[in-house]
Amino acid sequence: MTAPTKPSAHSPGNALSGPTLGENLHSPVIGWFDDNARDLPWRRPEAGPWGVMVSEFMLQQTPVNRVLPVYEQWLTRWPRPADLAKDAPGEAVRAWGRLGYPRRALRLHGAAVAIAERHGGDVPTDHAQLLALPGIGEYTAAAVASFAYGQRHPVLDTNVRRVFARAVTGVQYPPNATTAAERKLARALLPDDDRTAARWAAASMELGALVCTARNESCHRCPIAAQCAWRVAGKPEHEGPPRRGQTYAGTDRQVRGKLLAVLREAHGPVPQAALDRVWHEPVQRARALDGLVADGLVEPLPGGAYRLPLT
Ligand code: SF4
Repeated sequence: MTAPTKPSAHSPGNALSGPTLGENLHSPVIGWFDDNARDLPWRRPEAGPWGVMVSEFMLQQTPVNRVLPVYEQWLTRWPRPADLAKDAPGEAVRAWGRLGYPRRALRLHGAAVAIAERHGGDVPTDHAQLLALPGIGEYTAAAVASFAYGQRHPVLDTNVRRVFARAVTGVQYPPNATTAAERKLARALLPDDDRTAARWAAASMELGALVCTARNESCHRCPIAAQCAWRVAGKPEHEGPPRRGQTYAGTDRQVRGKLLAVLREAHGPVPQAALDRVWHEPVQRARALDGLVADGLVEPLPGGAYRLPLT
């Protein structure tokens, strides 16, 4: 599976010192993953690269339990990128349902169109080609290359960043936005061979999702508790800038969600009056609607009606 575990008294100071640290973590984390990985549909062989890509778009800002039903419906309706590419982008927004951050639906539709046009309908295997697709950033390209094609890439999502911050750097939380130092650390921790690196990416992510969570780290269940720099240091309090909250009630995001819900249900043009009923405050409501139009999620029609985009 991977290189044998070597005893190593590591500290934040030697985090980038070479393969020893990584080897110290790979074997226990991957072994734990072998025994504890959730059976999720996008991890099954039948998901294929397209299933992996769809799941990565959906999971970026939405928890697994909310993604599962939408993912299943999505893959049933659009089993290949070309199937989605043939439909209107508004249908992708409609099928996105309540996953939130619906621009992801438009981006996924745009990626499907590009895959159909440039790659004969197959999700490209090459990391650079993945990255060149519209709507695909560094994270998604690395995740698809790693999870779908078993390649060696650092895959840095919030779960992995938190595990690395605690286990290796010795702090409670990673910075609010990904830093160059985190990317360097992730590269330094990558196992040498492709297959182990891909397994490590999935395993470290799962550890952050199930054991080393943001709210409640379960160190007694953690396969790297003995090596974890933050735990060994006595879990010093977070000293960085305040962590960003996830307020929703009363935000423009909430208003956008309410407006979009009406348009999703309508299956046709919606008069302004129907949208006006979703939120009491006219200035905020107008701002939210303008934002949806500017983002291409909603199409204004002559006469003051609106619909999901057809093109
Ligand atoms: S020992 Fe605790 S804090 Fe450290 S990685 Fe494991 S769960 Fe996280």
